[in-house]
Amino acid sequence: MKPPQTLHLDAALVDNAVSLWNSGGLVAIPTETVYGLGANACDGSAVASIYKVKSRPQFNPLIVHVADIETAQKYVQWNDAAQTLAEAFWPGPLTLVLPRTAQCPISALVSAGGDTIAIRIPAHPIAQQLMKAFGGGIAAPSANRSGRVSPTTAQHVRDELGDSIPLIIDGGPCVVGLESTVVDVSGKEAVILRPGSITHAMLSQVLGYEIGQGQNQKKSPGQMESHYAPSIPVRLNATQVEPEEALLAFGAPFHGAAATLNLSPKRDLIEAAANLFAMLRALDDPRFHSIAVMPIPDEGIGTAINDRLARASVR
Ligand code: AMP
Ligand code: MG
Repeated sequence: MKPPQTLHLDAALVDNAVSLWNSGGLVAIPTETVYGLGANACDGSAVASIYKVKSRPQFNPLIVHVADIETAQKYVQWNDAAQTLAEAFWPGPLTLVLPRTAQCPISALVSAGGDTIAIRIPAHPIAQQLMKAFGGGIAAPSANRSGRVSPTTAQHVRDELGDSIPLIIDGGPCVVGLESTVVDVSGKEAVILRPGSITHAMLSQVLGYEIGQGQNQKKSPGQMESHYAPSIPVRLNATQVEPEEALLAFGAPFHGAAATLNLSPKRDLIEAAANLFAMLRALDDPRFHSIAVMPIPDEGIGTAINDRLARASVR
């Protein structure tokens, strides 16, 4: 495989990427696995715009990319298995799933409303340079439209997303070209959620036991039918609200609810997506009979919002 053409970015380009991330923009970046569509993981609206640009119809949890273990430890509850695997395979194509820290500033959208975060340190020198300069976590799924194959050159990204993102950083062809291995280390024993170039045998050897595998369907939150269903009923497409209900509003709210949170008073779907999980959680309170949700337009990122609301209403 050819080595990356460019191994170091000049300072102006790094500054450009960092200021785009700091102002909620998206930057496509090379990693050793595939090109990623990166946003500041702490900025809910920026993360929501990833879904919009990819036309992804569902909120699947995203991988957070960081420069070093110290940064990872700010976001996830570190443990011995994580330390062992990180020492053996980071930087590299291994993603660790761990519980969020108590004060974790990462957007709930990155976790798709769950309690865990998938995190890794990429091995590509340019990705590292960018993560170091940015300082925080970058949420980055593959930089392709939903349903298309993952891009392994900057040209693939330009062809598919060139019109919708302000900056694509060319780091040459990806050397691995396959998505990272995802390992859940949040439980007693580690489990492979997605196979990749770091294999079952490599992981088992380092951990000193046979790691479980093939659990993706069950454990990956994006694929669970009723992932994050609130404990009280969720009533979709409400046309009025009862006094004992909580209202999850969109646009001008109905009056008379026991409590109201507004996904987006100005009917902005990106803002609504950014608020969705945190607001659902905040209204999930047994004081209320149910959560009435006002209709959300089923277009653009609204499709992903409605998909997730439909799952939340399954009891
Ligand atoms: P992609 O970013 O498109 O390569 O996909 C990310 C992969 O990581 C998907 O298979 C997700 O289901 C998985 N993933 C991301 N976050 C989590 C998480 N918190 N828990 C379990 N799996 C995750
Ligand atoms: Mg992908």
